Amino acid sequence: MKNCLFCKISNGDVPGDKVYEDDSVFAFNDINPQAPTHILICPKKHLSTIMDMESGDEAMIGSIVSVANQIAAEKGLEKSGFRLVLNCGSGAGQSVFHVHFHLLAGRPMQWPPG
Ligand code: C5P
Repeated sequence: MKNCLFCKISNGDVPGDKVYEDDSVFAFNDINPQAPTHILICPKKHLSTIMDMESGDEAMIGSIVSVANQIAAEKGLEKSGFRLVLNCGSGAGQSVFHVHFHLLAGRPMQWPPG
């Protein structure tokens, strides 16, 4: 999508510190990390929020979870654990309207989240 920041990071128009990329998913280090590990994992397909998911997008979203597992394994996070967060809508804290999962790790996590 033309004016989407994360689409621009995906296609290289805006620089991003990418840590993973395949045909349908990309991941990059969050510019304002909230934990020692804070990576955003996104579908390449532009979806403003997860509520815009269409029939056929399930595998793409599922592969984001696989990528999270892969990154967690590469970073040795299996024992300490990690958190995957998806904010849906501004009321839930979403500020960039291209679906992204936050992978957070490396510090104690609180529950419930704020
Ligand atoms: O869930 P939410 O939409 O609030 O998350 C957006 C995330 O995108 C924030 O964690 C913010 O730091 C990150 N961001 C980024 N690079 C940008 C703009 C925002 O990593 N250029």
